[in-house]
Amino acid sequence: MAVSWIVTDIDGCISPEESIPWNLDSFGRLARISHDAAEGRGTVAPITLCSGRPQPYAEALLKVLGIWAPAICENGAVLYSLKDNRSRYGPGVTTEKILGLRAVRAFLETDLFPEFPELVYQFGKEAHVSLYCERPEVFGAITERIEEFIRRNGGPDVVISATHYYLNISLAGVNKGNTLRFLFDELGTDREHTAGIGDTEGDLPIREAVGFFACPSNARQAVKDVADYVSPYPDIEGFLDILARPELQRDT
Ligand SMILES: [Mg+2]
Repeated sequence: MAVSWIVTDIDGCISPEESIPWNLDSFGRLARISHDAAEGRGTVAPITLCSGRPQPYAEALLKVLGIWAPAICENGAVLYSLKDNRSRYGPGVTTEKILGLRAVRAFLETDLFPEFPELVYQFGKEAHVSLYCERPEVFGAITERIEEFIRRNGGPDVVISATHYYLNISLAGVNKGNTLRFLFDELGTDREHTAGIGDTEGDLPIREAVGFFACPSNARQAVKDVADYVSPYPDIEGFLDILARPELQRDT
C-alpha cells in the first residue's frame, strides 16, 4: 500500500510532550525528509500537521518543515496554509459557537483562575481552549465547574478532554477527524490513501479518518490498541521509524 498524504499530531509525536528543547539531529532529519516529500523527492509521502496547537505555532513549524499543504490547528477548529498565509475556521465552527466559547473564557478568567492559580491558559487560540497544569489531578474538579457554568449559561455544547498535562475544551462536532475529512477532500484524496500518526485520545478521530494509523511508544494505551503499527521508539525517534514503513511511502 502507498499513500498520497501523511498527517501527524505534533506534541508527543514529532516533539516531546514536555516543554523541553528538541533533539536537533532528529528534527533536522525529519525536516529534510519533509522538505523532500513536499517537493516530490524521496519516497516518503508528503506530510502535514494536525494538532491542538494554535496557528502561529503551526505556521512556524510549516516553514521549518517546508510544508505547503494546509495544517489543522486547535484540534480541528482552524486551518492555516502557508501558500496564501490564510487562516480559516474548520467545518462546524459558527459565530454563535465562538461567542459561547468566549463566555466560557470569561468564566475562566473571573472564577476559575483565581481559585486554581496553577492553571495556565494557552494563549493564541480562537475557537478552542487549552489549559496546562503540572497537577492534572485537578482536571476532574475543573471539568465539573465548567460543565456547571455551561448548564447555567445555556451553552455552548463542548467536549472537554484531557491529554497528559492539558485540559482541552473543544466545540461539539469540531474535531481533528471532521476537519481532516474536509482537508482530504480539498487535497483530492481520501481515507484509503492517507496515513496518520498520533499519541493521545484526542488523536482517535485521526485513526477514524485515515487508512493506516501508527503511534510512537509513548502513546496512550487506548491509542496503541487501535494502531496498525506501534513503534518501539518514543516521540520523534518513533516518528522517524514510522516514516520508514512501506505504508507511508508515496503513491507513484
Ligand atoms: Mg500529542
